[in-house]
Amino acid sequence: MSAASHSLAGNHLACHTCGLVSRHPEVLTARLSCPRCGVELHHRIPRSVSRSWAFLVAAMMLYIPANLLPIMHVTSLGKTRSDTILSGAEYLLVHGMWPLALIVFVASVLVPVVKILILAYLLISVQRRSPGRAMERLRLYRFTEFVGRWSMVDVFVVTVLVALVHLGNVAEIEAGLGAVFFAGVVVLTMFAAQTFDPRLIWDNVRAHAARHTTE
Ligand SMILES: [Zn+2]
Repeated sequence: MSAASHSLAGNHLACHTCGLVSRHPEVLTARLSCPRCGVELHHRIPRSVSRSWAFLVAAMMLYIPANLLPIMHVTSLGKTRSDTILSGAEYLLVHGMWPLALIVFVASVLVPVVKILILAYLLISVQRRSPGRAMERLRLYRFTEFVGRWSMVDVFVVTVLVALVHLGNVAEIEAGLGAVFFAGVVVLTMFAAQTFDPRLIWDNVRAHAARHTTE
């Protein structure tokens, strides 16, 4: 579970340490503690938006060197080739391995960009207290979580290994610095998705509905 504690229906909170469910007033800012073990309880992930932004911005910055620096150096028949993600995909394409080229491109270039854009959109919509399209936004969030599980590094490794079998006569394979930044992008976007509290989406829906009934 990514949440520090889980808000059940209404004003019940489950302790993330001992599991005790207790009743608490629905005040999001109040400091609450577990009546059994005394650990601090949270209705929402603390500082969810700012922490999620921090991870996301860091991921965006690492995305640039991840794509510009070589992801691997392959020595074959005395010649060394250094490839970035894109030049690797291009190489596969030129050599007729277009399905592999497509996998590399989608998994390593497209998916991280889409993930970063979705998370930025969710964060901005929560910050602007937007009540609209809540269900769609929740689906988008689930998508980023789902994608995070089988994200690009393993896909990329498998693809590279398959490609190497095709190449043959490989003397040496070395990971490039780009691979390190790449792994950083994967991990940071996963953290960004985990620290984002999707319940904030519904807080705005509820707040919006409350405003309208009192008007
Ligand atoms: Zn407890």
